[in-house]
Formats: sequence, C-alpha cells, structure tokens
Amino acid sequence: METIRIARVMQDAVLKARGRSIGFVPTMGALHEGHLSLVRTARAENDLVVVSIFVNPLQFGPSEDLQRYPRDLEGDMEKLQALEVDYLFLPEPEGMYPQGFCTFVEVQGLSERLCGAFRPGHFRGVATVVLKLFEIVQPTRAYFGQKDYQQSLIVRRMVEDLNLPLQVVVCPTVREPDGLAMSSRNLYLSPQERRAAPILYKALLKGQEALLRGQRQPHRIRELMHQVLRSEPLVGEVQYASAYDPYTLEEPPVLRGSALLAVAAFIGRTRLIDNLLIDGLK
Ligand code: AMP
Repeated sequence: METIRIARVMQDAVLKARGRSIGFVPTMGALHEGHLSLVRTARAENDLVVVSIFVNPLQFGPSEDLQRYPRDLEGDMEKLQALEVDYLFLPEPEGMYPQGFCTFVEVQGLSERLCGAFRPGHFRGVATVVLKLFEIVQPTRAYFGQKDYQQSLIVRRMVEDLNLPLQVVVCPTVREPDGLAMSSRNLYLSPQERRAAPILYKALLKGQEALLRGQRQPHRIRELMHQVLRSEPLVGEVQYASAYDPYTLEEPPVLRGSALLAVAAFIGRTRLIDNLLIDGLK
C-alpha cells in the first residue's frame, strides 16, 4: 500500500492506472468493520482500491466534535494493508482547503432535511469534499454505507446532477451483535451508555414491525418509535425518529412502496444515527 498526502501526486498515480478500474472508499478514519466491509467490496469489484482518510473540517459545525474526533492512523493502516488496498490518500486540511478556497457544492432540499435540519452546512461540507475527492481519485466506483443513508442519497444526486462519470455503490449497514450500528463515534460511549445504545435499533425494529402489520401513517410510526426511545433513561434529545419517503426524506401523509425508518438521538453527549430501508410495501 502506498500512502499519498498530496492531491497532485494522487492524481498522477491514478492517471498511470489508465484502463484499470478504480474503487474508492472515502472515510474519516478510526476504521471499524463497517468501513472494512466497503473496502472488501471495492477490492472484489475493481483492479485498484483507493481509501481516503480525511476528517473534513468543512462538515463539522462550530460546536461539534472536530477536535476530539477519534483518530487511529497506525491501526487504520494495518487494517487497510491487510485488505490489500493499493493507495491510502491522506490529505492535510491545508492541502484540501488552501487560503482563498471559496467554491462549495450545495445539493439543495435533500441537504436541509433530517440531519441537515440539525447540522446546518454539514451536507454542503460533505458534498464539497466528496466532489473534490472524486476529482482527485477519478474512481470508476465509489463506495458508501447505508448507515449514512442521507449522505449516500445526496452523493447520488450530486453525481447525477453534475454528470460525474462514476458509479455510486451503497453497502449494507454493519451492526454489532446487539444491533448497534457500527460507528467511529461509538468510541465516545461510556460502558453504561454503550449498553443503552441499541435502543436506536430497537426503535427502528418497532417501526418496521408496525409497517409490516400494515401501518402506513408516519405519525403513528413516529409515536411508536419515540415511545421506545423514551423508555431508555440515557436517551437525551431525539432529533428525529419516524418513517420517511426514501427519495424526498419527507414524511408523506401515507407511506407507499417503500419507507425509510430513520433516527437521530443523543445517548448522553453522543449523537448517534441509524436507519432501515423497507421495500415492497403494498
Ligand atoms: P465515516 O468514516 O464515518 O465518514 O464513514 C465512511 C464510510 O463508511 C461512509 O460511507 C459510511 O456510511 C460508511 N460506514 C460507516 N459506518 C458504517 C457501518 N456501520 N456499516 C456500513 N458502512 C458504514
């Protein structure tokens, strides 16, 4: 595995790969099985695999966890090496956003819903860095996790709207045995909070059960999911928990065809998100 820190050098490396397919996995590091499942899929489907690790300052709000975001470069490099990654792209913030940087990508509408309503500017930061990374890595396929469903939807939209010549692949959410979706932010949880955290998944399962029973009214599903979340004393603010149209991320009056069950809630000081996509609704 070759580690590259400079965008121009990364661009030159992929230019030399002419004709060979490139699978790209953008991450913020502190890699866990969720990330590694994306890397394995990229490895199986492409000639070359590029992984980036970049804690993107542009997608963090002023009161968010940029400074204390978990970092484990040594461990990450070992894991990527074992999966036979070809290139690790490791840019510096000053390299990505030099003085005078003033070009941003905004995917309107979708970026304001769900997480966007509580993290203003977050998806503008995500779309901007992802487009930059695509321009640097020139991937054939880019791999994202369903865990961040809204992010994958926004990236797909951007790729379509800007005619980017690549395929977006969304991989299933990897969970701990007790249902908790794997996340670098799970490292923030105290042992007691960690035991409480699967409540998000339980709320999603409650929503799924209601859908499968024939419930089609989002406000009913919202009530059930909130009830489950409130049953756990360590749950703080619930930012959203309901059933949404998976294309618009809005609560429709009646669910049809498919539904996105999605939740964002605090366990102590840690904000966690999770979702389930339910297809085939009659
Ligand atoms: P992050 O490092 O949090 O920016 O995540 C990098 C990529 O890994 C994103 O596409 C995430 O959706 C994906 N990812 C994170 N956690 C999981 C998980 N538990 N299962 C599958 N993909 C994940």
